[in-house]
Order: sequence, then C-alpha cells, then structure tokens
Amino acid sequence: MPRLLVVFPVPMKYRTYLIFGAPGSGKGTQGKILGAIPRFFHCACGDVFRSLDTRTPIGQAFLDYSSRGELVPDEITVKLWMARIADSVGAHIFKPDLDSLVLDGIPRSVSQARIMQDMIEVKRVFHLSCPDRAALVARLKKRALKENRFDDANEATIRARLATYEAESKPVLEFYGPQLVRDIDATQAPVKVLSDVLGIINHET
Ligand code: ADP
Repeated sequence: MPRLLVVFPVPMKYRTYLIFGAPGSGKGTQGKILGAIPRFFHCACGDVFRSLDTRTPIGQAFLDYSSRGELVPDEITVKLWMARIADSVGAHIFKPDLDSLVLDGIPRSVSQARIMQDMIEVKRVFHLSCPDRAALVARLKKRALKENRFDDANEATIRARLATYEAESKPVLEFYGPQLVRDIDATQAPVKVLSDVLGIINHET
C-alpha cells in the first residue's frame, strides 16, 4: 500500500526591518513614514497597546507597567503582537508574500527577540542612536504636551523608561549583532534620518 505523504505547510517568516532606539529617538516617526510606502507594513507595539480597551485585564496591565516606565511582560506582549499581525493578514492590509514588515517597539528585550525568532526574518536593524540623553528627555517632554502621552508626562517616568531601555532593550542590539545592525544618527533632522534608512534599504534590494 502506498504510504500517504502528509505535507504540513512550513509557516513563512515575515521579511522584517526593525526600527530600534531609546524612547524619543524617533522610531514611530520613521516607522509611520516607511509604512506609508507601498510594500511596507508598519506595526508599532506601543500603538497596539494604546489601542486596547483599558477596562480589559491586558489594557490595565499596559497602564500599570507603562506608567512605571517598565516593559509589559514578554509573553503577553508577543501574544498581543502576534494577534495584531494575524488580524492585519486576515484583513489583507499586510500581505506577507509581498510586503516587508517594519516593526518599531518590538522586540524590546532579548527574550522577546528569541520568542519572535521563528516568526520574523530580520533583514536589518536600524538603530536610531542618540547618546545625548538630555536631548531625548527634552523630546519626550515635548511629546507629552503634543500627543497627550501620560507616560511622558513626568520626568521620573521618563528616566525610568530610559533606564529600562539601557538594561533590557539595548542588549537586543548584541543579539542581532553587527552584521544586521546599522547605527543611524537620530539627532539629525527626520528627513535625513529617513534618507539614511532608505539609502540602506535601497542598497540591498
Ligand atoms: P517609546 O518607544 O517612546 O517608549 P512606545 O509607544 O513604543 O514608546 O511604548 C510605550 C510603552 O508601552 C513602553 O514604555 C512599555 O511600557 C510598553 N511597551 C511597548 N512595546 C513594548 C514591548 N515590546 N514590550 C514590553 N512593553 C512594551
């Protein structure tokens, strides 16, 4: 009797660019612009959290952690992110066979990067670098006024977020390593930062 060959579809990994950097480094600004270009799909993890109903347990968890300047636990975060991506695929706004995924705000810890390893094929990590922490604090304070971001509203929370970035997020750069990471001067004008990012993407595609 002929053997029945069962072929399971191999889940494809999303072709991904990561926009990485400290709070206030301009990830969201760049991510939004890239996401407006055909064949790129932008997903900002912070926006996914902010879109949650704050009466739900996960919405509450987001408020609690982010108001302390801490990261939301990794498992919840990646699950939520996966659900958002699945919804976007289902709604045909993200077409993984055609589009590159542009992620900002995730992965934000080495453990998230590990969990996501089977789902994303990282083509480049754009590190929006701004060693001048005072400049970041000034940007975040300005954003608090303009965008009504409660987590930017007081200096203690801002400092806590920068400390969280140093301790938990920055090691993600080592996880991906110098072959994938490109440093970009985040103190430049947004158009110059964009031009640097696009220059690198264009060079490779
Ligand atoms: P920013 O990059 O300016 O800090 P975000 O909008 O990306 O702002 O994130 C706001 C808050 O949402 C973070 O301080 C954190 O509490 C939570 N958050 C966002 N992304 C993640 C993530 N990948 N893992 C855990 N927490 C996250």
